[in-house]
Amino acid sequence: MTQPVVGYIGLGIMGRPTALNLIKAGYALHVFARRAAALEPLIAAGAVAYDSPKAVAAVADIIFINVSDTPDVEQVLLGSGGVIEAGKMEQIVVDMSTIAPIAARNIATKLAARGIDLLDAPVSGGEAGAIAGTLSIMVGGKQTAFERALPLLQVLGKNIVHVGDSGAGQVAKACNQIVVAGTIAAVAEAMTFARCNQVDAGKVREALMGGFAGSKILEVHGKRMLDNDFKPGFKSRLHQKDMHIVLETARQLGLALPISSQTTQLINALLGSGDGELDSSAMIKVIERMSGQ
Ligand code: NAP
Repeated sequence: MTQPVVGYIGLGIMGRPTALNLIKAGYALHVFARRAAALEPLIAAGAVAYDSPKAVAAVADIIFINVSDTPDVEQVLLGSGGVIEAGKMEQIVVDMSTIAPIAARNIATKLAARGIDLLDAPVSGGEAGAIAGTLSIMVGGKQTAFERALPLLQVLGKNIVHVGDSGAGQVAKACNQIVVAGTIAAVAEAMTFARCNQVDAGKVREALMGGFAGSKILEVHGKRMLDNDFKPGFKSRLHQKDMHIVLETARQLGLALPISSQTTQLINALLGSGDGELDSSAMIKVIERMSGQ
């Protein structure tokens, strides 16, 4: 079987390493990014750069996109110079961005009118998972499109689940962010609690790692909190965007999500202090300030 021609749009913290992994796996990659600097490492690795998403769509069979928020996905796919203008029958778009489930469904309907299949395929695992090719990928969309995209998804991730129809991947990702935000807040409280009891917070983390409180968040974000190292990672402003998706969807459904509401307030406070570009583990700074630390 001939290999698909692959496009990639959006080369930030997550897009750059995932795109590089596709090149390392032997796929010829056709890329677009707004900034020349973002393109450089990809071109050095052999990718061909284009001046618009439309130009990428004109040559690619499968197009990955990995941009920030819902309006960005809409612009890249449906806007002027967007993928839809050159899209063709049986083309697949794999959107790895985290956006609202309802928006994913609406975009899928518009692309389907041109014969293009959209898979919503948000990820978990952070920059480290993107570099290592060990992401968790939660996919929504048609089974046939999922099967065609699977060999490429297997280059990028280890735990790949076809959750359901269009939007189901984004619902799974919202669930992921509910758990992640709540756990970061709990770890931030625990680390502050230990320090304020004049106990070595590093030793506390070490002790907790082997028991029921052990988690990836305690391991990775707990370490960042101990080291006071908040280089992103996952930017707090993107986590705020994700919690907005969670709470807005909950509002529409009439769901009570008290823990998500509270953790969103902590993230809001972080952004209010001008720390939106810091890693989401910087939530501990808000807990510390609230406690006079
Ligand atoms: P990032 O480093 O800020 O990168 C986003 C990239 O998208 C940037 O290169 C940006 O280009 C590009 N972009 C944004 N709007 C665009 C537009 N309208 N047209 C073209 N390019 C556009 O963010 P990231 O951390 O890679 O996150 C990307 C997505 O993955 C987000 O939806 C995020 O929520 C999700 N995610 C992130 C992580 C993580 O740990 N970082 C984990 C899971 C999921 P410029 O450089 O020109 O601004």
